[in-house]
Amino acid sequence: MEQRFACTACGACCHGWLPLTLEDAVAHAGRFPLAMLWTPVRQGAKAFARTAGLGTTVRLRDRKTLAVTIAPTMYIPPSFPCPELAADGRCNIHADKPSRCRTMPFYPYRDEPDQADMLVPRKGWACDTSAAAPVVYRDHRIVDRADFDREHDQLRSQAAILRGYADYALKYMPWLLDGLAKAAARRGGSVVTSLSSFLTATRRPDAAALAARQEPVLAAFAAKTAGIPELAEYSRHYVAWGKEMASMARRAAAP
Ligand code: SF4
Ligand code: SF4
Repeated sequence: MEQRFACTACGACCHGWLPLTLEDAVAHAGRFPLAMLWTPVRQGAKAFARTAGLGTTVRLRDRKTLAVTIAPTMYIPPSFPCPELAADGRCNIHADKPSRCRTMPFYPYRDEPDQADMLVPRKGWACDTSAAAPVVYRDHRIVDRADFDREHDQLRSQAAILRGYADYALKYMPWLLDGLAKAAARRGGSVVTSLSSFLTATRRPDAAALAARQEPVLAAFAAKTAGIPELAEYSRHYVAWGKEMASMARRAAAP
């Protein structure tokens, strides 16, 4: 079996949440509003083992176990374009774009033999899957796998840090467990926590510098979403997280 795919730079997929590797989140903290996105996968799902390996496992109150992806994420409403999407649908930071953008449409949280449906364009996407497009997936293998492997390697090497964060967050934010249970019941649901919780848990030495770069980005998105009722949750988060970033940047700068 062969599948073809080429990007026509329509820009449609450069909207809404973009899960990043930690490395990319740090590199783009002055550009993208960041959150930590927790996405549960239920036992029995195909991606369970891989998700557990790259993220963590969580035992629910009903004793069921979830595998959970924890991804630093560009947190913008689905209707919003990425701040680096140019008017002609091209990427302003093509040479430095995140691994997630390079690997698209493949998805490293799924096993390689389970990528076929990632190559089916979603509604409104103008990806070229015609006979003129190059073969990118053959016999359940990715033809040019360098980007996929790079992103997967980054995710694997950061897994221990995210697991440490998960232990901290589940201890100090007990509501998270119920949030994950509800998200799992919704299928495809997820839970959002702040970047500051991650920086606090992991005691990063560059936390103050990251906070100082995030604060103006969050302020800009708070302004963009202010007064739009359907984006009230985003707006609330941007305002609250902006305050946390300001305080984190100040605290670390204090003598
Ligand atoms: S960084 Fe570039 S490729 Fe990635 S979502 Fe933004 S515009 Fe699209
Ligand atoms: S939706 Fe498809 S064609 Fe459009 S930018 Fe994304 S990958 Fe390219």
